[in-house]
Amino acid sequence: MKLVLATRNTGKVKELQELLAGTGMEVISLADFPDVPEVVEDGDTFQANAIKKARQVAETVGEVTLSDDSGLEVDYLGGAPGVISARFAGAQHDDEANNRKLLDLLSEVPWEKRTGRFRCVVALAVPGGTIETVEGTCEGIITTEPKGDLGFGYDPLFFVPEYEKTFAELNAAEKNLISHRGKALTKALDVLKRTIAR
Ligand code: IMP
Repeated sequence: MKLVLATRNTGKVKELQELLAGTGMEVISLADFPDVPEVVEDGDTFQANAIKKARQVAETVGEVTLSDDSGLEVDYLGGAPGVISARFAGAQHDDEANNRKLLDLLSEVPWEKRTGRFRCVVALAVPGGTIETVEGTCEGIITTEPKGDLGFGYDPLFFVPEYEKTFAELNAAEKNLISHRGKALTKALDVLKRTIAR
């Protein structure tokens, strides 16, 4: 069975493919469908965006499609950057600029108030059929400077107390075990198994 990942983000594709390895599915991404138009992520919630992406891509390519919408919620910033995590510093997706903006906004904020979480909603859409969503979160603390060079996005600023490391200092297997995306994907795999069995 084919499963299409509704993203062109290479960091995400890599993580999702690793998480789905061993399921026996042929996992492909939008990189294999250059003509499929970009989905406008204009929802107010991760769930709304995940549903929109999965539904639109499933109907366009005619295959079971998995989408993920995710981002960072910082408590001191009232949950920002949230759904605009990818575009926090401007319309162009620029991880370095996003990280700089986050550090600037928190420059006077003490360690104990730098709490936040990554949140991920995964949607699974069957062309012309069902759509289901599941969610995963991972709690952490926003560091005062970047640390580590693995991963992508806000990883160098996201400190996980139980590992005493940032996400960017964890290898893929370690991150997948505790990450928002790993947790959501584990739940999505159950949905996928049910979907295949139908
Ligand atoms: P999306 O493509 O709209 O889901 O945007 C997700 C954005 O949230 C990414 O571009 C990153 O900025 C951030 N993000 C989501 N998950 C992660 C992660 O695991 N590590 C670092 N940043 C992440």
